[in-house]
Amino acid sequence: MTTISANLQAVLARIAAAARKYGRNPDDISLLAVSKTWPASAVREAVAAGQRAFGENYVQEGVEKVAELASLGLEWHFIGPLQSNKTRRVAEVFDWVHSVDRLKIAERLAAQRPDALPPLQVCLQVNVSGEDSKSGVPMFEVPLLARRLASLPRLKLRGLMAIPEPLDDFVQQRQAFGLLHRIYQQLKCDGLTLDTLSMGMSHDLEAAIAEGATMVRVGTAIFGQRMLETSV
Ligand SMILES: *Cc1c(COP(=O)(O)O)cnc(C)c1O
Repeated sequence: MTTISANLQAVLARIAAAARKYGRNPDDISLLAVSKTWPASAVREAVAAGQRAFGENYVQEGVEKVAELASLGLEWHFIGPLQSNKTRRVAEVFDWVHSVDRLKIAERLAAQRPDALPPLQVCLQVNVSGEDSKSGVPMFEVPLLARRLASLPRLKLRGLMAIPEPLDDFVQQRQAFGLLHRIYQQLKCDGLTLDTLSMGMSHDLEAAIAEGATMVRVGTAIFGQRMLETSV
């Protein structure tokens, strides 16, 4: 067994254990393997171990990797900061975007999504950590923006995503994820059809699962510590 394959099994075991502990069905929690900075060969190893969905943060790197691995029929998620001059490549190449945080970005993705492809699956990224956190929509703007996104053609709003500030304390981790869960439930009560709560990474996936995550985004725990990260 390769290291990546062993790590993947360990992460799946963590997800299953957390699901059991917090009364969740493990089948309701999917794993997104975050392959940013890692070469296509690392993705191939994860694929050989059964993983099908991968997340990328940087447009150029992601587009190249998707092209290189096109024959494998994988599911690709864009999860990084997205500038408006890069939306076209993302709309053409990815299946999902988790990091929509402005109406302008959503409108461009909708306009640029090729008709031949299925709708782009999107999540609205929410800032649950307050002032200091660099990305995500402020919580008070979420209801209006979610409604606007849900009405755009060529996009399918699937849910919410957050990257809370990294915390070591489990109770504090849960608080941030709990906040996102409550906003998500409120949007559903208001009539939006959503099924995705994208939250939890290598160091806090248990807290995210405790608070209802349906998709965890895990890089380091699968591929190892990133050495090559050049931009933020
Ligand atoms: C890098 C990244 C991850 C994975 O983080 P790890 O700590 O390596 O598991 C998840 N989500 C986003 C948005 C990221 O940028």
